[in-house]
Amino acid sequence: MSDGFNLANLKREILSRSESDIWDAAKLEWGLASVFDADEPQRCLCDHYPIIEVCVIRNRKNGVVAEVGNVCVTKFLGINADKIFGAIKRVKSDIDRALNPEAIELFYELKVLNDWERGYYLDTWRKNAGLSVNQLATRQKINRKVLANMARAEAALR
Ligand SMILES: [Zn+2]
Repeated sequence: MSDGFNLANLKREILSRSESDIWDAAKLEWGLASVFDADEPQRCLCDHYPIIEVCVIRNRKNGVVAEVGNVCVTKFLGINADKIFGAIKRVKSDIDRALNPEAIELFYELKVLNDWERGYYLDTWRKNAGLSVNQLATRQKINRKVLANMARAEAALR
């Protein structure tokens, strides 16, 4: 399992938590609920260990929640988790940095960002030196909101 996931295990575990017994249908019951960086290494649903970048997935039909690593979530939900976690890491180490569109869309879908914040961010994420003092302050404010939401996501599971 050096490649960071085990698809057979993942399928079995997901099916046991889904309403449908058919993989292609069961898959559609699931969506990403939140993401966080774990303080302590976690185990993925596929049994891969350790995972630090944790994706919380939720079944829309029965409300069941599970934690998977970024490799599995990419395979399973087709989300580019690497890019999202990469952007979050940059913002964590420097609050002036920008999230990328992948992360912006995710946090918009998760209702962390509202329409205005999403639009603002998509308009300005490529600018760095060109940002005014106010624009930079707005970016920092949105970044803090995203980081606070990730901290809450982790706390909620403990
Ligand atoms: Zn996995």
